[in-house]
Amino acid sequence: MSFNELLSGQVVVVTGAGRGIGRATALALSEAGAAVVLVARSGDQITGVADEIRQTGRPALAIATDVSDATQVDHLLVLTLRAFGRVDILVNNAAVVEPIGKVWETSPLAWQKLMAINVIGPYLCARAVLPHLLERGSGRIINVSSGAADKNLQGLSAYCASKAALERFSGTLAAEVEGTGVVVSVLRPGIVDTDMQAVLRETPSSRFPHSETWQKFHRENQLRSPREPALAITWLASRFGADSNGQTFTIDDDAFRQRIAADLGVPPLPPRQRNRAA
Ligand code: NAP
Repeated sequence: MSFNELLSGQVVVVTGAGRGIGRATALALSEAGAAVVLVARSGDQITGVADEIRQTGRPALAIATDVSDATQVDHLLVLTLRAFGRVDILVNNAAVVEPIGKVWETSPLAWQKLMAINVIGPYLCARAVLPHLLERGSGRIINVSSGAADKNLQGLSAYCASKAALERFSGTLAAEVEGTGVVVSVLRPGIVDTDMQAVLRETPSSRFPHSETWQKFHRENQLRSPREPALAITWLASRFGADSNGQTFTIDDDAFRQRIAADLGVPPLPPRQRNRAA
């Protein structure tokens, strides 16, 4: 089966699909044959990506949704089912990284908002699609986490806590769906060249003490292209990810990258320290 038939007939919801990893994921899943529902708060970005996909002759639909709002998420499902009649795969990718700063300097409202987007958002989206997946006895939920899930990064208390919570949520959900045909997995996408990365390296070291390290990653060309995690997500969404329930994958794992390239028939995905001279 060729790459562009891997997900034929499948309907995928990708949150945070307006830019960065989510945009690349929507494009890759569409290339693999899926109909794609693109979700973000800003309608103009997802509409642009949906137009880009439709120009290739593949189906795509942009639905402006705040994933932290239960009513909007339920409506997202109604519109998805109305347009495509089914849903097979959910990619919980939407997230924010701010507030950045020491715990005692952050705003409680901003901290709560991050948790609402990064943790409650994936819960609401999973909760909305699960009855449909369970009824058919198949489907995938792929949660995009971060190495921050098990690191104590000063200035990123909310973000680190949210990714740790997302991974525990994913594991618990995977246990609940075990044996149903629904598969829940986690991807840590590495350090990727997106707007979120730009925010981190541009934050003053008084608020984010690691910003210089992040500037160095950028200077030394250590950032991954969003296409790389997008291919990893395509692998997890396809038949190759069928046995991944309850597992966490990191793109910085050499063996995982080699499997993705071999199974999908794409060029090798580079290691992180790809070109220190650049
Ligand atoms: P990004 O460039 O900042 O894009 C984030 C996307 O999420 C945007 O489309 C944004 O659109 C959407 N979004 C944010 N809040 C939302 C909400 N409440 N409802 C719906 N959509 C929302 O981020 P990225 O770097 O591509 O990150 C994607 C994922 O990878 C995140 O889960 C992130 O934590 C993870 N990750 C990234 C890196 C990295 O190096 N970039 C590393 C590890 C993990 P709107 O603002 O229009 O809503």
